[in-house]
Amino acid sequence: MASNPTGERPIDMHVHLVGNGAGGTGCWLRVRGWHRPLAAMMIRHIGLPAGAMHGELDRLYVECLLEWVRGSSLGAVVILAQDEVHDEQGRVMEGVGSFYVPNDYVLDLAAKHKEFLPAVSIHPARPDALDELERCLAGGAVMMKCLPNCQNINCNDRRFTRFWERMAETRLPLLAHTGDEHTLPIVRPEFADPRILTLPLECGVTVIAAHCGTKSGLFTPEYFHGFVEMTRRFPNLYGDTSAFNVPIRGRHIPECLREPLVSRMVQGSDYPVPVHGHFAWLRGFLSWRDFRRWETNPNILERDYKLKAAMGFPPESFTRIRRLLRQSLPPLPA
Ligand SMILES: [Zn+2]
Repeated sequence: MASNPTGERPIDMHVHLVGNGAGGTGCWLRVRGWHRPLAAMMIRHIGLPAGAMHGELDRLYVECLLEWVRGSSLGAVVILAQDEVHDEQGRVMEGVGSFYVPNDYVLDLAAKHKEFLPAVSIHPARPDALDELERCLAGGAVMMKCLPNCQNINCNDRRFTRFWERMAETRLPLLAHTGDEHTLPIVRPEFADPRILTLPLECGVTVIAAHCGTKSGLFTPEYFHGFVEMTRRFPNLYGDTSAFNVPIRGRHIPECLREPLVSRMVQGSDYPVPVHGHFAWLRGFLSWRDFRRWETNPNILERDYKLKAAMGFPPESFTRIRRLLRQSLPPLPA
């Protein structure tokens, strides 16, 4: 099905880390209101006891993730840091974000485990943004992750030009969330529009629009067609398939499987976001047989990969990211 002629194993380039700081990781987690049952559900979905939220979450989460990667067809996963929400002056907006994962935590984990590739997260308005970027490049960062609508990042702010230029010079790609979001608090809903990525694209950064601008809510705006339009303007724009196995986001899969879009797709699961093939099956994107075969697989990284391969995503969409990530030493695992 999804074997690759080059023998390269697939990479899942959108995998979140979370932690409560147990063991001195520096992570924090602040889950409120209706996000609380949602978080507990995700924790159970990946195979951890719900009580892990208040225990040794950081260690358990990493051990569990390593086990899933090793038991899957994947060669590696890109693990994502998460910077704090900052205002336009680069000051931390206290009490606004819901979780934090320090860059050093992902860089250290990736140094210890060949299954992990480190994506750092830097709010470009931070007064130390450029220094932090250099530090992360020296530490082996392969990608930079941000959520403009949740972290309050107007990527088109001209003050960030030097930051994007430095990313382009060092071939560090940007993974930016696009489309609405329901698992994290939103600060600037209008920054869900993929056009927020124009300046980094003009500066020559390879940009991956997470979720291809698709929406996950019934009554929220849809930016998929805006994303498609931008891929025509910018050859350096890609889209990831993350969370396409949740109820609404996956409805544009048929367009994503056709040229010219299919050549811009990269594999991401959005782990620990739940993965279910029901929606793809109901829409006719997946046969009953393939749905039954992969839906019962407890390894959700593998389930997400196999469901997408069965829907018709070609082998290259699972390995393309290898040529987009910054190549830091040592070389990516085969
Ligand atoms: Zn995500």
